[in-house]
Amino acid sequence: MSASIIDGKELSARVRADLVTRIHAANRPVRLDAVLVGSDRAAAIYAENQAKTCTAVGIDYRLHRLPDGAGYDDIAGRILLLNTEEDVRAIMLHLPLPAGVDHERIQALIAPEKDVEGVNPANIGNVVYGRRSLVPCTALASVEMIESTGVELRGARCVIVGASNIVGKPIAVLLMRAEATVISTNKFTKNLAELTRSADVLVAAAGVPSLIRGDMVKPGAVVVDVGINRVTGPDGKSLTVGDVAFEEARAVAGWISPVPGGVGPMTVAMLLRNTVDAALR
Ligand code: NAD
Repeated sequence: MSASIIDGKELSARVRADLVTRIHAANRPVRLDAVLVGSDRAAAIYAENQAKTCTAVGIDYRLHRLPDGAGYDDIAGRILLLNTEEDVRAIMLHLPLPAGVDHERIQALIAPEKDVEGVNPANIGNVVYGRRSLVPCTALASVEMIESTGVELRGARCVIVGASNIVGKPIAVLLMRAEATVISTNKFTKNLAELTRSADVLVAAAGVPSLIRGDMVKPGAVVVDVGINRVTGPDGKSLTVGDVAFEEARAVAGWISPVPGGVGPMTVAMLLRNTVDAALR
């Protein structure tokens, strides 16, 4: 048996099409204000691509650039200013920040109702309480991908490999809210394979290439691979892989998401959707 693919590109295209319709119907401007500090090239390229992605669905994109030497007070000041501006409804902060600036302290300053990445602890707390909230984008993407398979989450056994504040933990909480039985694992977990083999739904979010082998997957399971790892391929070229040994796991699972083309594009779509939700709320 070969698993069906959970196609992140196709699912994200559907989300984006829906956003185009919503923005058109609302007939109100929707804008994302992004803060980028310093001259990190990768972050600048990411911001450029983000601008194009936003424009394609009808979201205005405004980039607020701060210079290399910007410190905590400068960045915090800009965030606090954006919080007060009425026509700013959606704020995101590009990482990395300059060395010595604690990004979590800055993220905690973003007004919760404008925090479209869901990185303010208030929003993560709201996820726990099941209150209306802007949910961290990768967690939202992962759960939407699981739900797209039609699997019944209530009573399902879900194993989450990785428990970071912004990825693994919120995924676990969202699945708990769906009344699944959730097991959260981390790098100190003993007998990981025994747990993953029992999972109806397996989410890999550890950042370790090929951590999940085929013999760690329950036959027919839904496997979502959140990992994004750069490795050197057999031909010496650099390539992007997930945390799951894809071909091995595909032979056993019922559903599996690929890397690239899985959680990555859905995460981008969830940021756009959070932006539209915040703007049209
Ligand atoms: P992190 O380093 O903050 O957390 C990793 C977690 O995995 C920790 O809880 C750690 O204990 C656990 N872990 C590490 N090794 C393990 C092992 N051998 N067995 C079990 N658990 C183990 O990482 P993160 O920010 O949560 O990101 C995780 C992965 O997801 C990375 O590859 C990252 O690039 C990727 N990611 C993808 C997206 C996306 O859009 N697809 C977004 C964010 C992160």
